[in-house]
Amino acid sequence: MPKTSYTGRHRPAAKPSRGRQFVVPVALLSSTVAGGLVIRDAGASALSPEAAAMKNVSNSVAGLGLAADPDAVAAAAANRSGARSSRDMARDAKTLIISATTSAEETAAQARAAAEKAAADKAAAAKAKAAAAAKAKAAARERAIAKAHRWVSPVSGYTLTSGFGFRWGKMHPAQDLACPTGSAVHALSSGTVVFAGWSNEGYGNMVKIRYWDGTVSWMAHNSRLLVSVGEEVSPGQLVAYSGSTGNSTGPHVHLEIHPDDGAAVAPRTWLAKRGVYL
Ligand SMILES: [Zn+2]
Repeated sequence: MPKTSYTGRHRPAAKPSRGRQFVVPVALLSSTVAGGLVIRDAGASALSPEAAAMKNVSNSVAGLGLAADPDAVAAAAANRSGARSSRDMARDAKTLIISATTSAEETAAQARAAAEKAAADKAAAAKAKAAAAAKAKAAARERAIAKAHRWVSPVSGYTLTSGFGFRWGKMHPAQDLACPTGSAVHALSSGTVVFAGWSNEGYGNMVKIRYWDGTVSWMAHNSRLLVSVGEEVSPGQLVAYSGSTGNSTGPHVHLEIHPDDGAAVAPRTWLAKRGVYL
C-alpha cells in the first residue's frame, strides 16, 4: 500500500518523545568515550541540545554516574569494538614498526659487534704475528750470538809438543802445536786483530786477537799472516799459515792465552772449559 494512503487515524502516531536523550556527535567525544554514545541527563531539559550534549560529554568524561541508554550502550560497545579493532590494528602496526625498528637496531648492533670482533681478531692476529716475529728475531739473535761466541781449535792435524810450563829451566807460557808449514791457522772465536806483524822478541810472524770476552790469544812462528790490525774476525776464520819463523826449532803454532790481556794461562785447560779439547 502506497504511503499516500495514510490518512486520519492511520497516520503514523507521533514518534514518542525521547525525552531528554541526546545523541552526542562523535567528533565531540574524547577517545575514551568515542562512538556515538547516547547519554540521558535529567538536568539537561533547560539547555539547548548542543549545550546539553556538551554538558553530557563533560559529565561523562568526569565520570559523574550518568545513566546510559541500553541501545546506545550496545551501539557504542559495537563502535568501541570497531574502534578497538582499529586500535588493535594500529597497535599491531606500531608493534610491527617497533619490532622492525628493534630488529634493524639489533641488526646494526650485531653488525657493529661483528665489525668490532673482526677488528679485535685482526689486531690480536697482528699482535700474535708481531710477537712471533719478535720471538723468532730474538731466537735468531741468540743463535747468532751463540755462533759468534763459540770457540774452535786454532789448527787441525797437529801434534802437541811443548806444553804450558817450565821448559829447559825457563817458563814456556804456551801450548805448541806441531803442524806442517802452511797449515791453516784459525781465529779461536769472534774478535778483533790487535797485532799482526813481525815480533822482535822471537815470535816471528805473530797475530794477536782480542776476543769478545776480552781474552787475547797469541799465535806465533807463522809463515804468513792474512789479517791486519783492527780487522774483525769470526770463529774459525783463516788468519795465518803456520811456519817456523822467529825463535823456533820446527814448524808449529805457538799458542798463548791471556785472559783480559793479562798473564798467560794454560791453553788446553782454558779451551777445555769452552768445549775445545786439544
Ligand atoms: Zn812455543
